[in-house]
Amino acid sequence: MIIDFRSDTVTKPTPGMMDAMMKASVGDDVFREDPTVNLLEKNMADLFNMEGALFCASGTMSNQIAITSHTRPGDELICEQEAHVYIYEGGGIAFNAGCQARPIAGDRGRIEAEQVLKSINADDVHKARTSLVCLENTSNRGGGSCYELEEIKKIRRVCDEHKLILHLDGARLFNAMIAKNEKPGDYGSLFHSISVCFNKGLGCPAGSILLGTDKFIKQARRIRKVFGGGMRQAGFLAATVLYALDKNVERLNTDHKHAKKIGEALQKHPLVKMVLPVETNLVIFELNDGEDPHSFISRMKEKEVLLLTISNNRLRIVTHLDISEEMVSDFLKTLAQFE
Ligand SMILES: *Cc1c(COP(=O)(O)O)cnc(C)c1O
Repeated sequence: MIIDFRSDTVTKPTPGMMDAMMKASVGDDVFREDPTVNLLEKNMADLFNMEGALFCASGTMSNQIAITSHTRPGDELICEQEAHVYIYEGGGIAFNAGCQARPIAGDRGRIEAEQVLKSINADDVHKARTSLVCLENTSNRGGGSCYELEEIKKIRRVCDEHKLILHLDGARLFNAMIAKNEKPGDYGSLFHSISVCFNKGLGCPAGSILLGTDKFIKQARRIRKVFGGGMRQAGFLAATVLYALDKNVERLNTDHKHAKKIGEALQKHPLVKMVLPVETNLVIFELNDGEDPHSFISRMKEKEVLLLTISNNRLRIVTHLDISEEMVSDFLKTLAQFE
C-alpha cells in the first residue's frame, strides 16, 4: 500500500463524488447555461458574502486572472518572497500581467501591515506604480501557517489608505478556516478578491473559484476566456465541488490531527533537525546537517512512503483525504526504524 504524502492534490474522486458527477445537469458554461456551475458560483459568492464568483480550471488560473484584472502593465505587486503567485506560477506576474513583484521576507509566508506600508513606492516617475497586495492563507511554503484576522485587517487599512487592491490566494483557505474556527464572511469583507482551490484538501479532480465584486468578475470572465479557460460542460466538475463542500470540509480536522501527530514524531526523531510549527495539513522539516534529503526520500520510497523536497534541505509531508489513520501509524512505525 503506497502512502502518498507528496501533495493534497493526489487525491482521487470517491464513489460518492463520482456519483455526483454522473448525476450533474450540465450546459454550455461559456453561454452561461450550465446550471451546476451557476449554482456553485452563486453558493460560493453567498457563502463568502461577496457579489460574484467565477469557476476556473486551477488555482493558478484564478490567481493569474485576478492579478491581470487588478493591474496595468508596469505595475508592482507586493507579496511574501515565497508566495505561490511569485515562485510557482511560471513567471505569470510578468508573462500575463506585465507586472513586477516586490517580494518581502515574512514569517513562515506571512507579512505584516508595517512591511506592506514600507514597500509601497512613492508617486515618482522612476518607480513602478504599486497597485496590488497578494496574501496567501494558509501559506504553502510557510508549512501551512495561518494569518491572524487582526493582521489582515491592519493590512487592509494600509491598502485603503494607499488605494491598493488586496487579493487573497486562498488555495487552502478552508484549512485555515477550520483550524482557526473562522467564517468565510470574515474573509469576504476583508479582500477585494479571493481564490480558493478545490483540487487540494477538498478532494476534487480540478477547479478553483475566484470571488469579488460583480464588476471585477465581469472583467475576470473576459480574461478567463483570453487565457483559454472558458470550459463548456464544466458542470461535471462543479458537481464534485458542491459534493465536496458538503462532505469534505469538516473532515479537514482529521488531516490536521494526522499532520500534528507526524510533526510531533519528526520533532523527536534523531535524524531531524527542525520541524516548522504544524498548524494545518502541511509538515515541513529539515534533516540534521550532513544527512542527504534525497537518500532519506529513496529509503522512504522503498517502504512505499512518498514525500518531496521543497528546497535543498527542506522536506514536505502533506496529509489529505486519501491518507487514513492506518497509513499514519504505518508511517510512524517506518519512521521509528530509521536511524
Ligand atoms: C496549489 C496552490 C495554488 C494553485 O495551484 P493549482 O495547482 O494551479 O490549482 C495556488 N496557491 C497556493 C498557495 C497553492 O498551494
